[in-house]
Amino acid sequence: MYNITLIPGDGIGPEITEAAKVAIEATGVKINWETVKAGADCIETDGTPLPEKVLESIRKNRVALKGPITTPIGTGFRSVNVTLRKELNLFAALRPAKTMLGIKSRYDNVDLVIVRENTEDLYAGIERKIDEDTAESIKIITRGASEKIAKFAFDYAVKENRKKVTAVTKANICKLSDGLFLEATRKIAADYSQIKYEELLVDNMCMQLVQQPELYDVLVLPNLYGDIVSDLSAGLVGGLGVAPGVNFGDDIAVFEPVHGSSPSLKGLNKANPTALILSASLMLKHIGEAEAADKLYNAVTNVIQKGEILTFDLGGSASTMDFAKAVADEVRKS
Ligand code: NAD
Repeated sequence: MYNITLIPGDGIGPEITEAAKVAIEATGVKINWETVKAGADCIETDGTPLPEKVLESIRKNRVALKGPITTPIGTGFRSVNVTLRKELNLFAALRPAKTMLGIKSRYDNVDLVIVRENTEDLYAGIERKIDEDTAESIKIITRGASEKIAKFAFDYAVKENRKKVTAVTKANICKLSDGLFLEATRKIAADYSQIKYEELLVDNMCMQLVQQPELYDVLVLPNLYGDIVSDLSAGLVGGLGVAPGVNFGDDIAVFEPVHGSSPSLKGLNKANPTALILSASLMLKHIGEAEAADKLYNAVTNVIQKGEILTFDLGGSASTMDFAKAVADEVRKS
């Protein structure tokens, strides 16, 4: 029996987490879910959108499955997602984007992995209003965090038998900050002669990904570019509904989809739970249940490939739970 923290989140979060639980249960892996709430609703009950018990639960269990959490735009509390990553030092976001048979997209051979630095850059949230008409945000890049994320990317490449790591920056303009990120990445790259290393500027990277995504393998990026290129990469393989992810710390892993809380779909039982179910598959692999992880992944791809039970974003009309139940049936058949 595994003790795992479950954060349903808000918006479509509760619907997709309920659905994902049904699909995970079918694998037979016994999980004791410790459900804890975070987000705007907690302000009334706990006085904060990120109650201490959430952090305590994750620190204790060391593995969490998380739904998305809404962040107010422009004003209001600091992003719970960013604070969680900071508090638990979840320094690496790993986001695979792989073509799946049955999903209509412009490409049939994408197999990218985004490795995003998760703790600094403009996400450090150091901002101030200088006067009524001027605001300033400070971009923090440190050698320590940059070397750490680069090492993570290269270690991942070696472990998963990948061939190439591409560092993505805007070091022609942000010469000092992104320049430092590159300096750190080059130093680490020198220790991995078996992995090809290259560098691209982020604007060019976006164009290259749209034109020839098959040329790229593992990408390592500072926080903000990683955020943006993750969504772009999700778009190459069918959209945010199918893009899984995980945030790694030294001994903690929080599995969550790339997408947000999608407020317009809240409560409609329409959202695609695939991204969260695939995140759960990564989670099962992480806890040592590789066979169950493969079964879950294959069940998702089989249901999608059959094309009979699909959510609206993939051209179908199935509900969130119908899709999850179809995945669960497929798992049980395997
Ligand atoms: P979003 O990812 O919620 O939605 C972007 C688009 O993708 C929308 O059209 C949405 O309907 C669609 N989409 C997303 N998930 C889907 C799914 N599972 N199935 C079908 N369609 C899906 O991004 P947004 O609208 O920019 O952000 C909404 C909120 O989520 C914001 O408050 C943002 O801060 C927050 N957010 C949270 C996280 C997180 O919790 N890790 C990540 C990103 C955004």
